[in-house]
Amino acid sequence: MNEALNGVAWGRPSICSALQYRDIETQIAAMHERGGRINSINKHSRVSMSSPPIEITFPDIRRWASGNTGLDYVWSFRGSLPGPHVCVSALVHGNEVCGAIATDQLLDALQGRATVKRGTLSVVFANVDAYHAFDVEKPFESRCVDEDFNRLWREDTLDGSRDSKELRRARALRAHFDQVDHLLDLHSMLEPAPPIALAGDTAKGLALARAIAIPEHILVDAGHAAGKRLRDYAGFADPNSAKSALLVECGQHWERSVGEFACDVMWRFLRHFDVLDSVPFALVDKPIRAQRVIDISQVVTVNTERFQWVRPLLGLETIAQAGTLIATDGVSEIRTPHDDAVMVMPVPHPKVGQTAVRIGRFRA
Ligand SMILES: [Zn+2]
Repeated sequence: MNEALNGVAWGRPSICSALQYRDIETQIAAMHERGGRINSINKHSRVSMSSPPIEITFPDIRRWASGNTGLDYVWSFRGSLPGPHVCVSALVHGNEVCGAIATDQLLDALQGRATVKRGTLSVVFANVDAYHAFDVEKPFESRCVDEDFNRLWREDTLDGSRDSKELRRARALRAHFDQVDHLLDLHSMLEPAPPIALAGDTAKGLALARAIAIPEHILVDAGHAAGKRLRDYAGFADPNSAKSALLVECGQHWERSVGEFACDVMWRFLRHFDVLDSVPFALVDKPIRAQRVIDISQVVTVNTERFQWVRPLLGLETIAQAGTLIATDGVSEIRTPHDDAVMVMPVPHPKVGQTAVRIGRFRA
């Protein structure tokens, strides 16, 4: 358990979780006074034993609450030259902090150190209610408040009469996203795995992923049975539209590198569209690996309460043999549909109706 707490980063906590953080911070300080050992175990460290350590600092995004667009937490900046409207969205899932780290840095830069040169640049903190509900004792529960914000982006869902906190926010943001030409949607993953770009199933989505050049892995897929993602909304996924979108999963939710990776992707995205007069932080051109494309051949959606994995799967692990049993779902067996099946973002405890895993193959 010491390792679990040692990984926690203490910087500027979010207001929502400041109490919990201060509580742990006090305990950490007491630990140091005792000589670096944790002798008594507190409620937080018990949780940390079953949850990944929180290695990142949650930015205090309340300073961006007013926005400048008439929408809370939505900012927009216009350049003097004509150009596209590019948008970076964060917190579509409330506990996926990396996007908030990146956009917090971007908005900071736009307070004087950087200027939008052409077109329009906007920043959206999407599910802020979920972010503010983050509880270190239940870190997985603040993905959303009522329902998954990233399954609401069909027109009939948005136009329908159903109500939820997320639907209200999605409906409020819809007109903004209707104005966006190119979207970068920053996410993170439940389980540790290499970052992965979700390009959708159009050529333009793949072209955008390749233009950004990171991450190494690009997923070509059509989404989830449970509903449409923001990255697939309207023109973003229409092959006849010039609009495009890219969703990037930057790593495990709270691992140390996740915010840095989100920043890297964001600066590259903005450089690609030549948005800023300068990139305010040195964009280090680290050596990057050739990208590999994974085509999805099967999306496994949970049908019964009795869904069970045969064994835990790792993100992007490859199972060599076709027909290998990976899970059972009631009386159904789920087997790999072909040789060299790549397991994409397996969910340890998926619920009925959710995607349990996407199975793909590396494109030759
Ligand atoms: Zn997400």
